[in-house]
Amino acid sequence: MPGFSSEKQSNADYDVVIVGGGLAGLYSIYRLRKLGLTIRAYEAGDGVGGTWFWNRYPGCRCDVESMEYSYSFDDELQQEWIWPERYGTQPVILEYINHVAKRFDLMRDVQLNTRITDAIFCEEQHLWTITTSSGETVTAPICIMATGNLSTPRKPDFRGLDDFKGDWYHTGLWPKEGVDFTGKRVGVIGTGSSGVQMMPHIAAQAEHLTVFQRTANFSLPARNAPLDPEKEKKHKEEYKERRIAAYSTPFGIAGYPPPVKSALEATAEERQAIYESKWQEGGSISYLFAYKDLLLNKSANDTASEFVRDKIRETVNDPATAELLCPDNHPIGTKRLILDSQYYEIFNQANVDLVDVRSAPIQEITENGIKTTDNEYALDAIAFATGFDAMTGAMKEINISVDGGTNIEEQWGDGPQTYLGLMVARLPNMFMITGPQSPGVKSQMILSIEWHVNWIAECLAHMMNSNHTRVMAKEDAQRRWVDHVREVANSTLYPLANSWYMGANIPGKPRVFMPYVGGVEAYTKECNRIVEEGYEGFEFATN
Ligand code: NAP
Repeated sequence: MPGFSSEKQSNADYDVVIVGGGLAGLYSIYRLRKLGLTIRAYEAGDGVGGTWFWNRYPGCRCDVESMEYSYSFDDELQQEWIWPERYGTQPVILEYINHVAKRFDLMRDVQLNTRITDAIFCEEQHLWTITTSSGETVTAPICIMATGNLSTPRKPDFRGLDDFKGDWYHTGLWPKEGVDFTGKRVGVIGTGSSGVQMMPHIAAQAEHLTVFQRTANFSLPARNAPLDPEKEKKHKEEYKERRIAAYSTPFGIAGYPPPVKSALEATAEERQAIYESKWQEGGSISYLFAYKDLLLNKSANDTASEFVRDKIRETVNDPATAELLCPDNHPIGTKRLILDSQYYEIFNQANVDLVDVRSAPIQEITENGIKTTDNEYALDAIAFATGFDAMTGAMKEINISVDGGTNIEEQWGDGPQTYLGLMVARLPNMFMITGPQSPGVKSQMILSIEWHVNWIAECLAHMMNSNHTRVMAKEDAQRRWVDHVREVANSTLYPLANSWYMGANIPGKPRVFMPYVGGVEAYTKECNRIVEEGYEGFEFATN
């Protein structure tokens, strides 16, 4: 083996096994090849792309601007690729990912149609044995979990779904061939980003759309448009500097100077003017950056929340429907802020109804449709936009352990425990890309992916140079990091929402705030400091 060449590891099939062929898995292949390592990546789908491979529902689009949401590792790539719109659609992003895979010849290290069921580390040999759903096993000293944060679609266990005579779909497992809802009575359950993006498209096509809403969410206009060629040119000229500057920001996106004023220091008129200009500009960072304390101080947040509620009241003609659409149980921004295109407007269409399933919950699915505690709705199709077992779901689906001992499911019984969202104590030689307790989902995801992969590559290079065959996070370092992540979250308003960040969307899942919200800048500085201090909190060994 070129990389990890201790005697006991010399029979390994590969140096590195990667689980997942999304943006993280693909960049890992690219980067680790540069170390001369042999790699095998496994992807459950019949194509690469991860999130952008599976989420093919109508209207699916990224909520980070396309000039930002792309790889930065190759300047020619970022100069040459042309994004047609301000926000990339799912088909365009998938095309981009396939283009990258082809351009850098990544597919020769990817095995498609292969789900990983088990990953067992042998402490004696310092080797992972990875098992696929077809029973194949491979060994490698290093295992990288590039399994994504929103990759385990979740459909509530409603009684009776098997009896439903119509068709049903989940946004995260949408059929490749698309769905024609023409002439159909369609029910959508869920009003998060996926449901809100999808519904204007269904409302335009279906005979009737019934929206089953449990929690009203805040949504801002995306103001999507064809990309302005002048803006694109300027952005490309500044690309290198912007990418570097992005690491010195909270969300990993440059160009948004941090606000210095509290919302409570401004007059009502000033606030109105600022919120209005941000509303017109579109985009979530801009809005949440209107004042410095919108995610820290409830009274400050109330002003921004109420502005959006007023916009909903202005847009939706029927006052009772408008009121039902106004979020009232969480501060704006504490759940992922949605960007929409004409969402609230659909409720003025004659073929769209809103059903409140908070006051009258869904009881069961019948052969004809959906039955709530006070009505039955006849439907030809149901679309579940009910989200994901976020951040921990994909890891916990795999039986991960050392020598068959305590597995990850048990280890994370009270919520995820990680060091920097990169490693888990007691799981040697296993790295996660944008794992829980890292800024991943609270940042420009591709920037965080590149950061983690580069960090791991440097760590592996360090191991090879020093003949180490094993690296593991120390328990005490992990405990301190988990405490720090919790303290940072508790100093914000985030824990006030029943969000997927908190695991609150999955019955029985521990309520723990999972992302690191101290910001990209603080996080990357801490990762660098740890390396400079000789990989503080990690222990290395040689077999
Ligand atoms: P989500 O935000 O978790 O929303 C799930 C929705 O389903 C919620 O409205 C939830 O209501 C509802 N729901 C779940 N179980 C239900 C039940 N038993 N009865 C009634 N309603 C139920 O999921 P998502 O919309 O798929 O989005 C997940 C994340 O993916 C987003 O936050 C975002 O980070 C990412 N995403 C991004 C984009 C983009 O880039 N534009 C697009 C799509 C998704 P409750 O709130 O009451 O639980």
